[in-house]
Formats: sequence, C-alpha cells, structure tokens
Amino acid sequence: AKTRNSFTTKINDLVAKYRTVDEDFFEELEEVLISADVGVNAVMEMIEELEMEVKRRNIKDTSQVKEVISEKLVELYYGEETEESIEELSQNPDGLTIYLFVGVNGVGKTTTIGKLAHQLKSDGKKVTLAAGDTFRAGAIDQLDEWGKRAGVNVIKHSEGSDPAAVIYDGIKSAKSKDADVLICDTAGRLQNKVNLMNELSKVKRVIEREVPGAPHEVLLVLDATTGQNAMSQAKTFSEATDVSGIVLTKLDGTAKGGIVLAIRNELQIPVKLVGLGEKVTDLETFDANAFVYGLFA
Ligand code: GDP
Repeated sequence: AKTRNSFTTKINDLVAKYRTVDEDFFEELEEVLISADVGVNAVMEMIEELEMEVKRRNIKDTSQVKEVISEKLVELYYGEETEESIEELSQNPDGLTIYLFVGVNGVGKTTTIGKLAHQLKSDGKKVTLAAGDTFRAGAIDQLDEWGKRAGVNVIKHSEGSDPAAVIYDGIKSAKSKDADVLICDTAGRLQNKVNLMNELSKVKRVIEREVPGAPHEVLLVLDATTGQNAMSQAKTFSEATDVSGIVLTKLDGTAKGGIVLAIRNELQIPVKLVGLGEKVTDLETFDANAFVYGLFA
C-alpha cells in the first residue's frame, strides 16, 4: 500500500501532465521508477523496452501506457513473461525439511523465523528452531521467546558457542521428535567475508551430512527500507553461500518497494517471502503479479 500510494500518485501526475507519449514522458517515468528503488540498470533496460512496445502498439495516449508498464515490471522481475507468480518454499518430500536463515543484524531475521514457525505450526507442521546466532547478544533469548509464542521447540547453547554444534543438536532433536521442519538461525557478520563464508560453509556441511538434500532453502533476510544497502548485502551473501531465496522485511515501512523487483532482476534470486509488520501473522508469500498489478489498483 505504501509503495502504491507513492508510485500511483507519481504515475498519475505524469499521465495528467503529459497526455501524449514523448521523450520527456519517458525521462520522467525513468526518474519515478528509480526513486521507487527499482534499480538504475533495470529501469534503463525497462524504459528502452517500454519505448519499443509503445511504438509497436502505436500507443499515443499516456493513460494507455500504465498497462504496458505493469507488463514490463513483471517481465523485469522474471526476466521473461510467465504465468508463474508465486514461488513456495521447497520441502523435503520424505523427511525433515531444513531452512537456513542468513542476514545481518537488525534486518528482522529472528522475527521472520518466529513468524514462519507460527505459520508452519498453524498448518499442522511440527517445527523445531535452532538458535545458531550465538554471536549477537540477546539473539538466543529472542528466538526462545518467539519459539514459546509459536509453541515450538527451541534448541540453544550458550552465547559464543559454535553455531554448527547448535544446528547439529537441532537436527538430532528434530529427528528424535519426528519434526517436519527445522529452522536454523545464524549470525550475520559481514565485516569479515572470509569468516562469514567459513561459518556458513561449516553449518551447511553439518546439515548436508545429516540430512541428504538439505538445506531445502537458504533464505537471506533483507530490510526493504535500506534500499541499495540491501542490494549490496545480497551480493556479499550470495558470494559467500548459495542463497535460494530472499525474505524482504519491513515492506510496510517503505514506499520504495521497487527493490523487490530489482533484487530478482540483478541477482536472479527470487523473493519468496515478504514481511509486512511486527505481528506474528505479518509474513506473506510473495506474489509478483499481485504486487505489480496492485500498484495500479
Ligand atoms: P535480527 O537482528 O535480524 O534478528 O532482527 P529482529 O528480528 O530482531 O528485528 C529487528 C526489528 O525489526 C524488530 O524491532 C522487529 O520487530 C522489526 N521487524 C522485523 N520484521 C519486520 C517487518 O516486516 N515490518 C516491520 N515494520 N518491522 C519488522
């Protein structure tokens, strides 16, 4: 809603101002898209295609351009036009499903794990959490709180202990309790990429060894309100480990929701979940078509 309010107002102003499609219209449209954090490269590419499409369809009236803009935004997200709009989290068809969460402090990692645990539990799944962020003060207690709220089991060690050992215990416990899903938290120390890489690969090795085919998702949590900063975190983490999906949090707190499209376009990593608030129910599966077409609704 926040992105829509700002975006739609700007586009409507633009349509009213120009009426007929010309170069100045496209130039201002470019600015509107960049200000919504769609990403400079993606926008330039999109404007070029938009101009061609408008010419091809012989559109003269700016009010008719909106639909083409939506089409191009969806294309920008997927790289090509597709009916597939939602990408659900992968699951283990026979056995324990493991989700590994990565991301820097403050982006909403713990909150998202709590929300997802609640959601899975509500769907009738048996869930265990592993408090693998042994670095940030308070992270273990915070995850424990979320676990209590969601009514799921939390495996924890003391602060400063080895994350891989916590996750190993998490797997053992989840297996013994016949859990469906284990969600693992990790620390996100970006200051030292080599450390980050080593820590994540150690954790991944343990998971891969204990449950073949796992982790079923490596989810990178990014804060939508941080714009291009989120983009650079995405680059660093995807260099450190194989990220399978993005969770974009705090989308409720920004009018620059275009970042959701830019991430997919630049890094080819799908946005699987979005955080829309601080409540336990404020987590949704991302639907790109609904998002883009909702901008003009
Ligand atoms: P972590 O350090 O990554 O584990 O971050 P936390 O889970 O502790 O979250 C940091 C802050 O962001 C907390 O105050 C959360 O309530 C808040 N937060 C997390 N997700 C969302 C969201 O989707 N929307 C809003 N508005 N706040 C969020």
